[in-house]
Amino acid sequence: MRITVLAGGVGGARFVRGVREEARRRWPDGQGGSEASAVDVIVNTGDDLWLAGVRLMPDFDSLLYALAGVNDTERGWGRAGETERVAAELSEWGVGWPWFTLGDLDLGTHLARTSWLRDGLTPTQVGERLQGRWPLGVRLRPATDTEVDTHVLVQDPDAAGASDAPTVELHFQEWWTRYRASLPALEFRQRNLDVARPAPGVAEAIADADVVLVAPSNPVVSIGTILTIPGIREALAATSAPVVGVSPIIGGAVVRGMADACLSAIGVETDAAAVARHYGARSAGGLLDGWLVAEEDAAEVEGLRAHGFAARAVPLWMRDLDTSAALAGEAFDLARELRADRGR
Ligand code: GDP
Ligand code: CA
Repeated sequence: MRITVLAGGVGGARFVRGVREEARRRWPDGQGGSEASAVDVIVNTGDDLWLAGVRLMPDFDSLLYALAGVNDTERGWGRAGETERVAAELSEWGVGWPWFTLGDLDLGTHLARTSWLRDGLTPTQVGERLQGRWPLGVRLRPATDTEVDTHVLVQDPDAAGASDAPTVELHFQEWWTRYRASLPALEFRQRNLDVARPAPGVAEAIADADVVLVAPSNPVVSIGTILTIPGIREALAATSAPVVGVSPIIGGAVVRGMADACLSAIGVETDAAAVARHYGARSAGGLLDGWLVAEEDAAEVEGLRAHGFAARAVPLWMRDLDTSAALAGEAFDLARELRADRGR
């Protein structure tokens, strides 16, 4: 069973942990010649940035740390047991962003990555080295090796609300972390899209999959940024695997984070059905065959089916490994039914 997941950082990591767990339960490798499973994760690279001389890949690292079990579960991001001695020194030097703390352990990752990039390795090759340290049981793939860092067009915050304030482009991380997504986003812009292409193995992971899952990640700045890389949408349209997505919106609200600020910026309501329509039904040229909404949103299922989505209401809260695995199981079940329907 070849499973390919499109994912952002923290929400993506919760889901992928569940996918890995449920795949292990259903397809225990090499036992009695039974079918094995392989999980490929196509990771958002729109959040990536250069800061203090090093390359950061926040979503990749969130997945890496969470799947390796070295993440800080209390804080929700970064490494467990983190310290910030280097960050204090950097701030004395005036290097980096005072609102964006780089932990010491985390900086070790960034230094290793930057060193390998300088040696000429691609982000994909660097990602392989990073994963070599811990047996993750899944393969993380940056969506692209091109630097497609997302920028956000806003009215200049220093022009203090004047109606004719000029616009400026902030790096996504500045908009998200410094301003907590509170400056109305006029547009999300990714760099280098004209030359970007999927990283090696990404289109193949989509084409060769038995099921493609869209994690309950931010639909705009995590999944949306993966989809804008030329070639990825085409690969998704062409794959024979069913594409099943999971809503990050429950009962008209984001579960965690500020995805609503991103959705409103592109004119999409913070609503599970609205996000599905934004992705589009594959039968009508869009992304999704199936869409899982929360039980709280069961009333939306019928309308979604009328729009061409194989929709289903299931428990969508990922509280722990078991609830995440159960959610992955619902996605596997829906995909199996879609495959069986197609076989008829
Ligand atoms: P980020 O890159 O770290 O911001 O994380 P992602 O883009 O992968 O995921 C953020 C999204 O995950 C948010 O929009 C949340 O609504 C969603 N999310 C977080 N926890 C849960 C959960 O338990 N269930 C569901 N369905 N969505 C969740
Ligand atoms: Ca992210």
